[in-house]
Amino acid sequence: MQEVFNYIDGLFSPSADGGHLENLNPATGEVISTIPRSLQADVEHAASAALRAQPAWNALSLEQRALWLDRIADALEEKHEHIAQSESLDTGKPIALARRVDAARSVDNFRFFAEFAREQTEMTFKMDDAMNYVHRNGLGVVGLITPWNLPLYLLSWKVAPALLMGNTVVAKPSELTPLTANILAETLHELNLPKGVFNLVHGLGPEVGQAILEHPGIKGISFTGGTATGRIVAATAAPMFKKLSLELGGKNATIILDDADLDIAVKGAVRAAFTNSGQVCLCGSRLLVQSSIADAFLPAFIAEVEAMNIGAPSDETSQISSIISREHLHKVESYIELALQEGGDILTGGTRAMTGPVGPDAHGAYLAPTVIGGLSHLSRCATEEIFGPVVTVHIFDTLEQATEMANATEYGLAGSIWTKDVAQGRALAQTIDTGIVWINTWLHRDLRTPFGGVKNSGVGREGGQWSLGFFSETTNICVIDPK
Ligand code: NAD
Repeated sequence: MQEVFNYIDGLFSPSADGGHLENLNPATGEVISTIPRSLQADVEHAASAALRAQPAWNALSLEQRALWLDRIADALEEKHEHIAQSESLDTGKPIALARRVDAARSVDNFRFFAEFAREQTEMTFKMDDAMNYVHRNGLGVVGLITPWNLPLYLLSWKVAPALLMGNTVVAKPSELTPLTANILAETLHELNLPKGVFNLVHGLGPEVGQAILEHPGIKGISFTGGTATGRIVAATAAPMFKKLSLELGGKNATIILDDADLDIAVKGAVRAAFTNSGQVCLCGSRLLVQSSIADAFLPAFIAEVEAMNIGAPSDETSQISSIISREHLHKVESYIELALQEGGDILTGGTRAMTGPVGPDAHGAYLAPTVIGGLSHLSRCATEEIFGPVVTVHIFDTLEQATEMANATEYGLAGSIWTKDVAQGRALAQTIDTGIVWINTWLHRDLRTPFGGVKNSGVGREGGQWSLGFFSETTNICVIDPK
């Protein structure tokens, strides 16, 4: 069994008081590692190290820091398989998915921001008698708090621009998925990143996470996680005037118009609903289908769902494996029960999978991909974030109804529209209250574009210029040259 440590001031160490937690493999229920149960003293130690390291790190040129990002990307790429295996073990996700999405994107995040830095030019504004130069500095020390669904993918999405812009970091991964954050720390250690530039503290959200939020020396918080936690983050950090980026939950609509290419739309809707067992904030967990195509679309959609391979994470052919924990399994199942109470019909799934009485999978958190019909689009199951392999289906007649249904939740993260009439799709997209809309695709990402939500899905944007802007402060230097 692996023992995972904090990484503070260039050293791997247990928590100050020696407390630790067990980390389980959700597909088997076995303990795979221990992690430190860090407390305020550990955050104090990490923040002090980060504060000491920040001036020298900030004094490097953008190009020098971009070179560090290149080195990190190269080193992580060499560990591609190790990252994928660890992510699959920690989260219960299929190994093929962990390779294709998690391990690949973790490298891409560092490489993208290094290249993006090199495209930056100094922003200037010329006046008749003066010149303005916009200078960007790091904020100082930033706190990065991340969830379990895409562990290193989301942590590296924050670490790369934070380091690039001259910040030093105190990071806290989810206590459910510590392994790949530890691989990142090991990699930075092997590369001899100056000590204190990157610090990692493991433990529980209300303990170590809260201590990061409250630390007066930490000037910015970039948080990705649930909306309820986001409220706590905002309530703690905003009165301290910390810069805040919140990437929160979603309840995204997949809208199938009657002129959609049936085959493309079916495959796209299945991918949107069930990638990572529906545990992606962007997943299309509400399927809105135009009435005139419903009889053709729904049987094809259900057949495609039923054809998905459910299997162990290590099985190369698995498309659906375990969800994150037994606790989360019970939460998702409680929504399936609620759907029945709300008058819904289970069109497929609704049951546990891989649950023989004995064997390695018997204690896993496996749930069959589930499609529920017959619910009002205003029901709790159709408006609250379930974050599992469950999709609800709703039928609409007109585009106005599609807009009304799509916007009938407190969330506003993403959505997708499937139509051959791209102009009609773009017009509809502009009526949907979300930060992102895909047309005839889903989770198709250009890392330069703004990423984030409206309403209860978050505050601010990440990606390209938005990340560089968040992780820096600007000083406008206005110059009159007397010569
Ligand atoms: P969560 O909010 O429970 O936890 C997220 C992180 O916050 C974890 O590291 C946790 O330990 C920490 N935390 C918990 N309480 C805290 C506190 N009081 N102070 C500081 N930190 C605290 O979320 P989760 O269950 O890990 O992740 C699932 C959620 O994340 C879903 O709602 C999903 O939609 C959301 N998510 C959003 C995005 C996005 O980009 N918008 C991406 C991925 C996941």
